[in-house]
Amino acid sequence: MPMITNLKNDLMPLHYIFCNYSILVMDSDKLALPDDEVVQKCFEHQVVIDWFGEPEYQYTAIALEDDCPAPKGCKWVPIRSLFVKANAGNTEVSRAARAHSLLKWRKKKRYCPKCGTLMLDDERETARLCPKCKSKLYPSVTPAMIVLIEKGDEILLARHVERNNDIFTCLAGFIEAGESAEEAVRREIHEEVGIEVENIRYITSQAWPFPDQLMLAFKASYKSGEIVLQEDEIEEAHWFKKNDLPAIPKEGSVAWSLITGEI
Ligand SMILES: [Zn+2]
Repeated sequence: MPMITNLKNDLMPLHYIFCNYSILVMDSDKLALPDDEVVQKCFEHQVVIDWFGEPEYQYTAIALEDDCPAPKGCKWVPIRSLFVKANAGNTEVSRAARAHSLLKWRKKKRYCPKCGTLMLDDERETARLCPKCKSKLYPSVTPAMIVLIEKGDEILLARHVERNNDIFTCLAGFIEAGESAEEAVRREIHEEVGIEVENIRYITSQAWPFPDQLMLAFKASYKSGEIVLQEDEIEEAHWFKKNDLPAIPKEGSVAWSLITGEI
């Protein structure tokens, strides 16, 4: 489907407006999105740095300048806060994730990687087209995996050195070139905590638009080995009883669902 970028007066019913990693809402509890008037004001005040619409999905995605104050009657909420249990399966949240990923992708793909010409939107599908050498680029998704390791009634959780280092969570990492997701699971576990696992089972997936990850969630059973930390990545890792857990990620993340046994 094409992206529409030349019809400012023909806005779609849903408006996803982003700034930094936040989304603009009129009421976050009901995910009340801004109305047409707010959108018009954003254009009038010339704070829009990019925008597009997808008629098939009936939304307009708008990126504002960094650190833009929220228009009257609206507030910024972190995009991550949409990923809560109450919003599971909510199509509007999925569209918001898509809108955000595509805006990031458009920003990254402004110029043709082959000849450096300013890329345009393709007229027939969601792609960027180089008017000079005709190269075409499609939105990409980056596969990553997250895994919960089980040993009887215990699970292995780790505290990371840099990201979110106040909580214990599952091991996770990107899937590398040439790997299957299961091979990535085995490799990451071995690299980060030094143990071997078996019975690797795919559980579910979650789009994680920061900017374009697809998180594939697995469970695996402990097989052998002692915990040996990859010290530049992992601060500490322990076996925890399922009924006696430390501080873990927030509800809504796939990590939370894995750890709490929700899935
Ligand atoms: Zn080109």
